[in-house]
Amino acid sequence: MTAQDFDVLPSAYNAFEEAFKQGIKVAIVHLNNQDWNWSHRDRGILVSKALDHRARNEAVAHCIAHFDLSSSRKGQEALKWVGWRGRLEMDIHSMVAGRMISLPALSDAISLSEDFVDVAACLGVSEFLLSWRLQYLTDDEIGELPVHALNRLQWGPSHDTVVPTGCGWPPPGTGDMYLQIAKHQL
Ligand SMILES: [Zn+2]
Repeated sequence: MTAQDFDVLPSAYNAFEEAFKQGIKVAIVHLNNQDWNWSHRDRGILVSKALDHRARNEAVAHCIAHFDLSSSRKGQEALKWVGWRGRLEMDIHSMVAGRMISLPALSDAISLSEDFVDVAACLGVSEFLLSWRLQYLTDDEIGELPVHALNRLQWGPSHDTVVPTGCGWPPPGTGDMYLQIAKHQL
């Protein structure tokens, strides 16, 4: 079977819907050097037109997590460059992986296919995010999954994957993104 044979599970996380519920504005625009751009003060997100639907959904989920962490001590320090932004990005990958790949959904997906690419397609996430989720599964979480299906995947932490690098942090000011979004809002 190929990725096309799998529909995304009905329970898959819809980040656009979540953004709408939270009053976060999203616009799909042409971006030069970044995959997405977020501004917690504007509660706005710009997503690159170059991304496909699945990547756009994941980008919005990523930005929502930035908003969730922007008022935390770690989030504030990272915004001011006195905290390590890389660490915050790692925290965000873990949050997004947990939100987009619930244990029941992961259990269903790995039971449906032994092919890593198909499992990611079924969950509606990138291979990067699925790798991240698998790498940081706790022992308790592993205990809730069908272990024969996990082993069948033949996944290991050295799995070759493309790490997203185009996260655009906001400049110190506010308002610029609001104006851009007003022109392009969905
Ligand atoms: Zn980010």
